Amino acid sequence: MATEAHARHSIAEYRSDYEEGRRLRGLRCACGFVTATWGLVCPKCGGRALEEVELSGRGRLAAFTVQTVPSDEFLNDAPYAYVVVDLEEGGRITGWVEGIRDEKELTVGAPVRWTPTYKPGVHFTLEPAPGPTTRESPP
Ligand SMILES: [Zn+2]
Repeated sequence: MATEAHARHSIAEYRSDYEEGRRLRGLRCACGFVTATWGLVCPKCGGRALEEVELSGRGRLAAFTVQTVPSDEFLNDAPYAYVVVDLEEGGRITGWVEGIRDEKELTVGAPVRWTPTYKPGVHFTLEPAPGPTTRESPP
């Protein structure tokens, strides 16, 4: 039996897994590079020793723009933010954050989390900002 290290899932499985909210997978190369984009070779070193890794879906905004003129499948969701997310484990993925009307509502570096819905695409929500503690002081 072949024991090649490259990924065994297909691009269709990869997409349907995250679009249907089952899991988010990435690939880690022997060189250490992690990508969230399906492929057969490492985009950094060209190596083929890619290992599948489970991605937590947590990350930070790398870039964003507010969409007010959506494609058909997002007609009921505009305006929303189209975002590029740097994932915690490495790798970058595009997705969207609903309910964003103005770019001032977002900042580069803001923490986000993958929150699958029945809606299409890779849906993220903003993590609450670490504010002052709300714990009550002891009596
Ligand atoms: Zn590599």
